[in-house]
Amino acid sequence: MRESCNFSSKNINQDKQGSADLNLTQAEFNEDKMSEECGVFGVFNADGESSAAELSYLGLIALQHRGQESAGICSNHNGDFNLHKGMGLVESVFEEKDMESLKGEMAIGHVRYSTSGSSKLSNAQPILINSIKGDLALAHNGNLANGAELRNNLEQNGSIFHSTLDTEVIAHLVARSFEDNIVEALVQSLHQLKGAFSLVAMTEDKLIAIRDPRGFRPLSLGKVDNTYVVASESCAFDVIGAEFIRDVAPGEVIVIDQDGIKSRRYTGENGTSLCVFEYIYFARPDSNIAGQNVLLARKEMGKQLAREMDVEADIVVPVPDSGIAAALGFAEESGIPYAQGILRNRYMGRTFIQPTQEIRDLKVRLKLSPIKEIIKDKKVILIDDSIVRGTTSKQIIGRIKEAGAREVHMAISSPPVEHPCYFGLDTSRRQELIASRNTEEEIGESIGADSLHYLSQAGMLKSIKTDVELGFCTACFDGDYPVDSRYLSEEE
Ligand code: SF4
Repeated sequence: MRESCNFSSKNINQDKQGSADLNLTQAEFNEDKMSEECGVFGVFNADGESSAAELSYLGLIALQHRGQESAGICSNHNGDFNLHKGMGLVESVFEEKDMESLKGEMAIGHVRYSTSGSSKLSNAQPILINSIKGDLALAHNGNLANGAELRNNLEQNGSIFHSTLDTEVIAHLVARSFEDNIVEALVQSLHQLKGAFSLVAMTEDKLIAIRDPRGFRPLSLGKVDNTYVVASESCAFDVIGAEFIRDVAPGEVIVIDQDGIKSRRYTGENGTSLCVFEYIYFARPDSNIAGQNVLLARKEMGKQLAREMDVEADIVVPVPDSGIAAALGFAEESGIPYAQGILRNRYMGRTFIQPTQEIRDLKVRLKLSPIKEIIKDKKVILIDDSIVRGTTSKQIIGRIKEAGAREVHMAISSPPVEHPCYFGLDTSRRQELIASRNTEEEIGESIGADSLHYLSQAGMLKSIKTDVELGFCTACFDGDYPVDSRYLSEEE
């Protein structure tokens, strides 16, 4: 078993001279969005030209939007595990020599986003445990609502933690289980977990995929030739030429080994709570979740928003890229022309400059440029998928007005985000959410819009057409949390 780590210079917040790294990653730029915390990937029986780690590398690049602060791959060659992880984007964490060391026909991988306080190498995944039951590598997407309580109990009983990860809580529960078989120990530990967990795990000879009973986060199973793959999103299959087989069902444990696939339900709990924000913003537009393509769901939300709104305008302009699909739908339904009135700079360099407020404000200027010739003298409907803190919307509207727009009417293709998320996203503080303390009129005023419109919750849900009947988590909109309220405590 070998473990190596690196620390890419890319996302370090402070250099030796004390100046800041204004590295405008997607996550930093999207500070006015909820941020997903993880993406997971797993490979069993890679028998082609590419190793399991190489397939995982490609899969993680496809899942990079789900986490940009750290990445890791654990490979398995005939039961011999090798782990490499580091801070930064996938392409900066893995160099050729790292990939060469990750040999084997099985692998699991992970990309992570985190709030700044926990952005450190010890929190990178996968994590690897070596117990008398055998070796186990684990990668987790989600957030345990009772993670703190479980950790506390484990610490009281002598467990020592090396990270602040919920995943490590699961590892300790597995190690302490009275089950000798490591797969059974893992399944037994699941009964103690509350909240969101889509897991991929790897033993010496098995790849395991697990989804929590409510199915908060997506997880899918695919296949290419004789190789099985598991991924947070189906877009990661396309990149390696794998075919989507099916979603892992809520409450399902899938074990893949040389005898094939075995599936079981480990819980009798009923009722699902798939995160509706996966369709609104998190998932990549080319992914399908529960049979619904994400881009088409977003487009339908835009159409529904047009049906619910009554504003005349000259052009419909998306905030790139998050508002594009909804703006296309809005324009199609309303008959108001779609115009790419804001250009997004995709080639942001990295500059070491002092992180003054002025510089932070300039981020939006650097990233988005209104096209005056399209905007000037126009009555604009500006479409975005959500407003979380309101800071970026204000700056974008300001820039559109500077470019000469006559009026800017902001239209959001989801309802107001009024409540924090406790299931794997980075907004656990209600006070940060602009809609939790302001009326729609006040928000519109504070972001400088001539009017502000949100999609209704019923309209949002109507826009998502899954192939099986599913319940959704909508808690950040309506406060209706699908877990016991005693687990819902705001972060400090
Ligand atoms: S609270 Fe919102 S973001 Fe969190 S899981 Fe529920 S719907 Fe998704």
